[in-house]
Amino acid sequence: MMKSIKDRKIVTPCNGCTLCCKNDAVRIYDFEDASQWKTEPHFLYPNERMLAHKSNHDCYYLGENGCTIQETKPYMCKTGDCRLLTLKVSFDEAKESKRINFYVWKKGQQLLKKTDKKTLKQLKKIAKG
Ligand code: SF4
Ligand code: SF4
Repeated sequence: MMKSIKDRKIVTPCNGCTLCCKNDAVRIYDFEDASQWKTEPHFLYPNERMLAHKSNHDCYYLGENGCTIQETKPYMCKTGDCRLLTLKVSFDEAKESKRINFYVWKKGQQLLKKTDKKTLKQLKKIAKG
């Protein structure tokens, strides 16, 4: 598996932001035990599961003070970083694609401007795959 931001010990500066936990699709990977979470069929990939949502489209595990399952959240949550999305996807693609949360893409763009050079270099390497 390609090195993730977790492997490289890069901290995503969310600072209370929970955009990724709203109206998004947290996919459960094959190497994870989906039975430990409340899930539902993935809206794009019917044979796969994603974390369940509340009626307002927030993640089922989003509480008043953020994620309620920090230690056991899925791999995608542990390795997600909006800056990577922004590095991988163009503005036009992000705007038009139904698969991409444009607000998350924009947040990534904001954070990239404040990211130090060393981290930026590492993120670009990860984004290249
Ligand atoms: S949009 Fe960025 S800052 Fe906000 S929760 Fe997602 S990764 Fe964190
Ligand atoms: S599990 Fe936690 S981090 Fe992942 S989307 Fe849900 S609330 Fe957010």
